[in-house]
Amino acid sequence: MFDHVFRPGAIGALRLPHRIVMGAMHLNLEALEDGGEALAAFYAERAGGGAALIVTGGTAVSPAGAGGPGYGVVGDTSHRAALRSAASAVHAAGGTIALQLFHAGRYALPGVAGTDGGAPFAPSAVYSRFSRTTPREMTAGDIARTVADFARGAEAASELGFDAVEVMGSEGYLINQFTAPLTNLREDEWGGDAQRRRRFPVEVMRAVRAAVPGFPVLFRMSGADLVEGGTPADDTAALAVALAEAGADALAVGVGWHESPVPTVQAQVPPGTWAVFAKDVKRALVAAGRGDLPVIASNRFNRLAHAEEVLAAGGVDFVAMARPFLADPAIVTKSREGRTDAVDLCIACNEACIDRSFGTERVSCLVNPRAGYEAEFGRGAAGGGRRRYAVVGAGIAGLQAARTLLDLGHDVEVFEAACEPGGQFRMAGQVPGKADFARTVRHHVAELAERGAPLHLGHRIGPQDTALLRTFDGVVLASGVLPVRPALPGSALPNVIDYAQAFAAPHTLGPRVAVIGGGGIAVDLAHLLTAGNGQEPTPAEFLASHAVTGGSAAPVRPAAPAREVTLMRRGGRVGAGIGPSTRWVALSQLRAAGVRTLVGVAYEEITREGVVVRDAEGERRLVAADHVVLAAGQEPERDARAALRRAGVVFEAAGGVTGTAGLNAVRATAEGLRAAHRL
Ligand code: SF4
Repeated sequence: MFDHVFRPGAIGALRLPHRIVMGAMHLNLEALEDGGEALAAFYAERAGGGAALIVTGGTAVSPAGAGGPGYGVVGDTSHRAALRSAASAVHAAGGTIALQLFHAGRYALPGVAGTDGGAPFAPSAVYSRFSRTTPREMTAGDIARTVADFARGAEAASELGFDAVEVMGSEGYLINQFTAPLTNLREDEWGGDAQRRRRFPVEVMRAVRAAVPGFPVLFRMSGADLVEGGTPADDTAALAVALAEAGADALAVGVGWHESPVPTVQAQVPPGTWAVFAKDVKRALVAAGRGDLPVIASNRFNRLAHAEEVLAAGGVDFVAMARPFLADPAIVTKSREGRTDAVDLCIACNEACIDRSFGTERVSCLVNPRAGYEAEFGRGAAGGGRRRYAVVGAGIAGLQAARTLLDLGHDVEVFEAACEPGGQFRMAGQVPGKADFARTVRHHVAELAERGAPLHLGHRIGPQDTALLRTFDGVVLASGVLPVRPALPGSALPNVIDYAQAFAAPHTLGPRVAVIGGGGIAVDLAHLLTAGNGQEPTPAEFLASHAVTGGSAAPVRPAAPAREVTLMRRGGRVGAGIGPSTRWVALSQLRAAGVRTLVGVAYEEITREGVVVRDAEGERRLVAADHVVLAAGQEPERDARAALRRAGVVFEAAGGVTGTAGLNAVRATAEGLRAAHRL
């Protein structure tokens, strides 16, 4: 098992025990004023979990290159102290670590402290939809200084105790902006043709090489920009060869820009899709006689099995995984020991990681809410001895609480009102592309059984349970939410069901469905109801359906929907509440499936023929439907709380039962963790 993953490898002078690299992630821990404690604890835990080489989140080589207020700058004294302690913590845990050198260019946020007078700079003054700004064009002086900044960054990495550096040259950041005709309109020695457009990355690589001779240097280049006007495939191949000649010890290959119309890291993308572009880079190196240079594939791998498949097929030498190490720091160790079922899989939701990395909130993980808080929540049994706790509710908040209590060394019993565990998370697991949500629930349940924690399904905690509840030392209340049934004329008709009923039996719904509600649950339901055979696309099918070529991509091709679905909302945006990195993908899929959305409607009544509404123009109309699904809101479940109060037991609440405002699964699992620690 994993024979190709667990082969030793080398990047320059660095000898690595296997072929999995932990890819860079910005964490918003970098600029915390905690002496680097959180950052060091985060990386040390992943080194201990078996990552061969950890690449840090991007450290800006100059204040102008910072991607936001949460970024560290390599020249900053306090950040250097944090970096030094992270490197030494990783070494103490037996790992190796590379510092990623970063410059955001036109992706720097205007007005962020540290940018050049509030105006980001870039090769040319081309507006960015991502940062919502037009950068100023770099002068020859800016370019020379920035090349030197990268070199100084590499020297700093070596001085601070790092084992390597990675130069960030992909994903649409500054270096990548030089190689793409879209963002490099220059006609001087830094632009105008392919050779001059690649001059900046090559000069950066040369300067870094000269600054740290013999020090391992990875260069992360873009294998496919996936934007119109992106770097053409031939230029990408030529860049790879030029970087090899300039002294790179490995090429890590990323794909996509933040402005790309093609999803790259969302759940809808089949794992392993992007390896094809890393293989193109390797082919170019082989053709140039530099096939010895290691190439690292990245983006959207969440199981070691995917890495094994790609490595076994040949054409790449390493696989970088980033978010899977947030979800489970020990993914490598568990997989090496044959315990793949015990891995907490990254479900590619992006809700606690990528979405937060664009702001200032600390990055964490939906399935591992300890991520980013390792220094706060230690591992191992709590003091005060072993106690006996109940968890009421086996949704994702309750399951997280139960696991945490077990980790703390306690005995746990879980009570769930429904006949199946998982709550809303289980519903999401039915949606195409979200099968790993359902796997997460199964994994939690299997773990409860393995650790001897009884799970009582179909047991709704109520007034009859007073004596039972008093047998526990405390309770985590995570009984979740119930769908709200709006008081509309006709809402008791037999063709009207709530979203929970629709998820429970989607096959019973007719060919035309009207959904009252347009939030995340309604969007998920629309995906489920319009999906055809339920088969996930293969990487090749995904690439074909997005017409992806080397430098650009055409929009999604429409698929034949299984049903005619209409989503309706009184106000706000359809899919509001879905994270920004995922919402646009979900909405483009809805469009492709022909889902109609009506926003600004007033509901008048439900009939056997559908829903009568007054639309945004004030016109009365019938939205014809065989079934009407109510997905217009939720309210906290109340009976269990009342029962706990009556029993007089100590309890802590987590998840939807604490309130539905801003409720999502990230909040639910974080509250599950914290409630268990508070007991
Ligand atoms: Fe993966 Fe979601 Fe965790 Fe991010 S928050 S690492 S996408 S499971």
